[in-house]
Amino acid sequence: MADSHEVAIVGSGLAALTAKAALADAEIDAVVFGDSPDPATAWRVRAAAIRQTHMRSESDGHCRPHTFPGLAARRAWRERDVWPLLLSVTDRYRPSVDEFLADADMVRKDSGWDASFRRVRIAGISPVPGGFRLEHRTPVPGTCQVCARYEGPFRHVLVATGHPGLNVPEELRGDPRVVHAYEAHGYGERVAVVGAGMAAATEWRNALAAGADVISVRRREPLRRPLNLPRHLFTRRGLAAYHRLDPRTRVSFLRELSAPSYPPGREWDVRVHVTQQVPEEADQVVCATGFVRGAANEPLLASLPRHDEWVELAPDATVPSLTDETRTLAVSGVHAQWAFPGADTLAGMRYVAHRFVRRCRTP
Ligand SMILES: Cc1cc2nc3c(=O)[nH]c(=O)nc-3n(C[C@H](O)[C@H](O)[C@H](O)COP(=O)(O)OP(=O)(O)OC[C@H]3O[C@@H](n4cnc5c(N)ncnc54)[C@H](O)[C@@H]3O)c2cc1C
Repeated sequence: MADSHEVAIVGSGLAALTAKAALADAEIDAVVFGDSPDPATAWRVRAAAIRQTHMRSESDGHCRPHTFPGLAARRAWRERDVWPLLLSVTDRYRPSVDEFLADADMVRKDSGWDASFRRVRIAGISPVPGGFRLEHRTPVPGTCQVCARYEGPFRHVLVATGHPGLNVPEELRGDPRVVHAYEAHGYGERVAVVGAGMAAATEWRNALAAGADVISVRRREPLRRPLNLPRHLFTRRGLAAYHRLDPRTRVSFLRELSAPSYPPGREWDVRVHVTQQVPEEADQVVCATGFVRGAANEPLLASLPRHDEWVELAPDATVPSLTDETRTLAVSGVHAQWAFPGADTLAGMRYVAHRFVRRCRTP
């Protein structure tokens, strides 16, 4: 069983919180190295920027170690009302963002997050016999130099550093009209929304509601498909079939899955002008163009073996070349898609967290 000096989580978002909660549930202590003492900070800013009021996920979209009781059951219990539970049985319960965030805050308290958190940005992970050393850099006072410092070694390390940054198309960088959809913003009078996924669809509605004239800038017709990934990808059998795919097929499958899309349904059928180029007359350009993609853009993972943009992982989200009976290097969040296609969801983070706990339990 691992003790407090053996396990480290690098990153301080929802994936890190989910792992920390699962470890705490298994009575395994872990140090968290991150930028933000509040694990919901990054998510909160992005969701607020696109005025998201309800979760994309259902009752099981939370950071707790066990799927049940989920947010629907907790609300039913709190309000003595079975309605959330009935909705959840038919997969129609969408928790509010406030409900999710209040629950995440409770998980933060219950898991001992604050006591384990260290505000340290990790710059490198080096394998050493029986574990990994974590490097960070601190400025040398009075000079412009930095000095490398080391933490650990830790036997088990989980990398949960999230997306490498917001993506703005090259041709729009430096354009003063540009704001990214996931950054706080209001709306102009003539708003061009670049992109064709969920954030773009949300921004068409937001800008229209704000009274703007909306232009959708997109290269192809958006895909309309349900918000959640196909159910079979969350089942043992479906996942086993996914893990059997040869690398080329797996890359095509993940590429297809990450194509921009938004759900079918009348509430998303809004009237906007459609063009392929950002028009001159737009006074604001909202880039609903998601995140910078690919493990090559994540400094801590860039040197690991990859298939296309995905870092190669075993089905339990560990890095095969750096994991053996003495140590574990595992990945959670978006960079764990090779192991779990829905890795950038709360359910995916729980999948990785459980497998990481199992590794930390090895004697
Ligand atoms: C608007 C929006 C709505 C979403 N809604 C849902 C939903 O309803 N349901 C669902 O299941 N999923 C949803 N998702 C997807 C998913 O839950 C989020 O992408 C989630 O925030 C990812 O968490 P993360 O911890 O991997 O990354 P992040 O939240 O980005 O956190 C990463 C953290 O690690 C820190 N960090 C990075 N590098 C280092 C380093 N080298 N050293 C130390 N710290 C570092 C960062 O500063 C940051 O604090 C949504 C995503 C978005 C953008």
